[in-house]
Amino acid sequence: MEPAPANNPMPKLINNPLAAADELIEGLVEAYNGQCYLVGTRSIVKSDIPNGKVALLVGGGAGHEPIYHAMVGKNMADGAACGDIFAAPTPNIVAEATTAINRGNGVLFLYGNYAGDVMNFNLGAELAQANGVEVETVLIADDVASAPPNKKDQRRGIAGLVPIVKIAAAASQTAESLQELAEVTRKACLQTRSIGTAMAPGSIPTTGKPTFTLEPGKMGLGMGIHGEQGVGELDFMSADELTPMMLDLIVEDYEKDTDVEALKAGDEIIFFINSLGSTTMMECLICMRKAREYLDALGIEVFDVVIGPLVTCQEMAGISFSITRVDDELKQLWSMPCESFCYSKMEGPLMSSSPRTPQVAKTSKKGSSTPTPKAQQTQNTRPAVSFSKSDHGLSIEQSKSMLLQVADAIIAAEPILTDADRALGDGDHGIGMERGFTALTKQLKDTDFDTLQDLYQTAGSALLNTMGGASGVVFGSLFLAGGQTMGGAKFLGPHELAHSLDQALKDVMNRGGAKPGDKTMIDALAPAVDAAKANIEAPLTDAIAAIAKAADDGKIASCDMIATMGRAKTLGEKTLGLPDAGAISVSIILLTMAQFITQNSSQS
Ligand code: ADP
Ligand code: MG
Repeated sequence: MEPAPANNPMPKLINNPLAAADELIEGLVEAYNGQCYLVGTRSIVKSDIPNGKVALLVGGGAGHEPIYHAMVGKNMADGAACGDIFAAPTPNIVAEATTAINRGNGVLFLYGNYAGDVMNFNLGAELAQANGVEVETVLIADDVASAPPNKKDQRRGIAGLVPIVKIAAAASQTAESLQELAEVTRKACLQTRSIGTAMAPGSIPTTGKPTFTLEPGKMGLGMGIHGEQGVGELDFMSADELTPMMLDLIVEDYEKDTDVEALKAGDEIIFFINSLGSTTMMECLICMRKAREYLDALGIEVFDVVIGPLVTCQEMAGISFSITRVDDELKQLWSMPCESFCYSKMEGPLMSSSPRTPQVAKTSKKGSSTPTPKAQQTQNTRPAVSFSKSDHGLSIEQSKSMLLQVADAIIAAEPILTDADRALGDGDHGIGMERGFTALTKQLKDTDFDTLQDLYQTAGSALLNTMGGASGVVFGSLFLAGGQTMGGAKFLGPHELAHSLDQALKDVMNRGGAKPGDKTMIDALAPAVDAAKANIEAPLTDAIAAIAKAADDGKIASCDMIATMGRAKTLGEKTLGLPDAGAISVSIILLTMAQFITQNSSQS
């Protein structure tokens, strides 16, 4: 699906919407004018990272420019792993960036706390670690509206990432060790809290659809940077009414959190007003005026102010406030001049000499040897499952045709998946699945496979390496793990199906931490596994029919569940009545397999 840019309800000056992320990165590299370069699939890396430096990697989905990829620069991040529009970077992108910025003293991963980013960066870390690179992760989780203080590790990361990355980047210039850098970064995270408000959605370049809907005359208090639900919907109000209401929520959060002191008179803060895209500087400044009055009344001293559209969601209208309480150490780090397209600190002369001798980094070539993810490596270490002979199963060639038919069905279902994810998530599930299954089709079409394992693992790798987002890892693991159990099997019968689905479920649960009832794709997959086990001795057509029905029932049952995992979890009870997008995908996959097998067996 490639809507002409002109058909987008929000006109965007782009070319092929599917190439938007790649093309913006190409443009950013040109803009950096030699200071940064492109690595591998879609990563930006600083040109002069000194040997021995503890490196800082940031990253996330594209479409939020100028974060994260334009945060690479002088005394800023060393590299950024960039995903597709609103989708986490894939593990290979993370690994390529990590390898490129590693200077032998470890790499700190610093990014927003979203399920998709966590899963992809963790897999990327495994790839880098297999290459001997030391990796440590600090998650940015500053949005006070997304979870209470006692569950603050579950919060999503929003605009507070700007002060956090700036401080971490300054610290990374002199940090002796990865642990030292991680420690000061965690301190900056703990002292940073944000709250956002949305007034109108942005639109996804690929679908042209808004990222969320708001009733006319309403605004969403506490909404995330994709329009995820927050504290609640309010009648539209003035800047002077909204500003203290938002700041109250931040101040109350410091009070309620037993891990930090309450904000008090004499505390110094960095105050950041972020526009989500189309909210103008005029509006931000009008809020600034009221915010200053509020902070002055509490005796809070503003050490520095940042204002601008730095963490955006296309043309979304909205604003967020972030407060970072700074002590002497954080103030010193904040004050270090820096330069990047996202944020530059121009006061005073730029640091004239670096403590280390600069060294020009080597460019890693696109497609250069990336180590194998753990999920794929384990294929040789897992005990082989012994199968009964499935003489009546699908041949490898038939299995391949079945997967191609599954891909067609998923690609055709893109609008349904997009709408389901728009309702409860961020609207990118359909495009992500379409991207992954288009790549799968390309990989499978002209290749011959000797074993089912080879076939399914090639399919899984195609998804894992192209989709990004939570579902890239989840659906990639589904096929990768499923393939592992098939060993040298040449026929796909009820036994192979049951073992592979069972292993896939275990891997997905292990990787993503979700369990049945959390309202994810697991709620379609788990009943399918039960049905597969119950029908292991049945004819393949009966077994797959029962499996597909169980998955479809599971999808329907997900309507009655309250989301507790993934992006939808902040919506709480509002998720009732709607199915989970990933569960719809699982049911489409298994229903299409059932159709194929039924058609195929009646022909033979
Ligand atoms: P993202 O959430 O990164 O935007 P997608 O929109 O492509 O990714 O996929 C969302 C789907 O991924 C959800 O509907 C859910 O089924 C699935 N999902 C999200 N998190 C998990 C998880 N931890 N475990 C299993 N499935 C998950
Ligand atoms: Mg999504």
